[in-house]
Amino acid sequence: MRQNNVEMVDFRIVDVPGRQHHVTIPAVEVDEEVLESGIAFDGSSIQGFRGIEESDMVMRPVLESAFVDPFMAVPTLSLSCSVYEPNGTRFDRDPRFIAEKAEMYLKQTGVASTAYFGPELEFFIFDDVRFESSNRGAFYQVDSEEAMWNTASGEKNLGYKVKNKGGYFPVPPVDSQQDIRTEMVKELMNAGIRVERHHHEVATAGQAEINFRFSTLTRTADNVMTYKYIIRNVAHKYGKSVTFMPKPVFGDNGSGMHVHQSLFNGDVPLFYEEGQYANLSDMALHYIGGILEHAPALLAFATPSTNSFKRLVPGFEAPVNLVFSKGNRSAAIRVPVAAVTPKTARIEFRTPDCTANPYLAFAAMLMAGLDGIKRKIDPRALGYGPLDKNIYELPAEEKAKIRSVPGSLEEVLSALESDYEFLLEGGVFTKDFIKTWIDFKRTNEVAALNLRPHPLEFQMYYDL
Ligand code: GLU
Ligand code: MG
Ligand code: MG
Repeated sequence: MRQNNVEMVDFRIVDVPGRQHHVTIPAVEVDEEVLESGIAFDGSSIQGFRGIEESDMVMRPVLESAFVDPFMAVPTLSLSCSVYEPNGTRFDRDPRFIAEKAEMYLKQTGVASTAYFGPELEFFIFDDVRFESSNRGAFYQVDSEEAMWNTASGEKNLGYKVKNKGGYFPVPPVDSQQDIRTEMVKELMNAGIRVERHHHEVATAGQAEINFRFSTLTRTADNVMTYKYIIRNVAHKYGKSVTFMPKPVFGDNGSGMHVHQSLFNGDVPLFYEEGQYANLSDMALHYIGGILEHAPALLAFATPSTNSFKRLVPGFEAPVNLVFSKGNRSAAIRVPVAAVTPKTARIEFRTPDCTANPYLAFAAMLMAGLDGIKRKIDPRALGYGPLDKNIYELPAEEKAKIRSVPGSLEEVLSALESDYEFLLEGGVFTKDFIKTWIDFKRTNEVAALNLRPHPLEFQMYYDL
């Protein structure tokens, strides 16, 4: 704080759906006692936390999470916090606690000492036209003719424009987002996040991807929160607006959050075995088996929005098939094989998207994988691949054998309702938490959407 002349200290928590909240304290008021005993806040105003009758809660900072926030007018130190009951015990609905418990459980099983997570977040950068832009996605369909190079359309200049689904990845001036992404990368690096690369993504409407280095489970979930904060705020500075929603534009590619995963014992990688399919160890295969077997329930945490299922449709590189494969991008699990060494051997679960609360989604994935290892679930024996052909072009009878991801948020919530035991192992998730999650999503999202007349219904039914 002294080095950076910090004037304010910002304390942040994450609510159950996955949004950050903060409270700020003048730096002169922050002493060791405040850092140790934490700060009181009203839990009843945080989504998913508490009723009004027992609302007092405490947030305590995790000091390793500190970074100097570049978006505030005065030097401000940002700190991620864990949530506690007033009596000093950990709050069992704090997503961060669930993530930490998953890591503790992993150690207890003796299977491995460390799980590494490497998420790849994609997002759209739009002009910041409030209200209007939020409605636009519903109507806006990328018109392939319009998007074509040099197609005249009134007086609009369509010269250097991304062609239909041609965003991956021409140089500027077609890529008009280079500089904004570069600034995002610099701010991420300043905040201590190791960035590996950035590029324009496939979608016509302006899609980006910035990747950072994998780390341990809870640390990576912290990084996701900081990442989203920085990406949004750099965009805001440019008069732009970023959305991580999975399918903002009908007919264009959606945004995913592929999650690379591997297990280690100390320095020893456990997912690699030369000579086997894709050089995967048996442990890695069983981990895959656990994820695919529990996928419908797991998606209640990994693709937890109504919009998620608008992305999970064939034809847009979104992973709709519950199979594993090397290379195949329509498979739920891809096993990277290019430039892989024993240390970088990993699996990539492609179905998740950025509406997931990363603490909960990563914890649930680890629990599913560990259940696969415990029960030695062989994905090959259960018809989950490996499948290395172009699935879109398979003959109908072969295609019919492939299971696909459920089609709606309601379906994955029901799947979670009947398949949650694997999440309770080691007390990582609690029944109370799972019930709260299902009720919350059903009422506030599924039902809320179903009850409202949709703009498209006017087009379909107004004159009927
Ligand atoms: N945007 C695609 C998705 O929805 C993924 C494209 C890629 O493979 O990076 O998951
Ligand atoms: Mg991508
Ligand atoms: Mg990927």
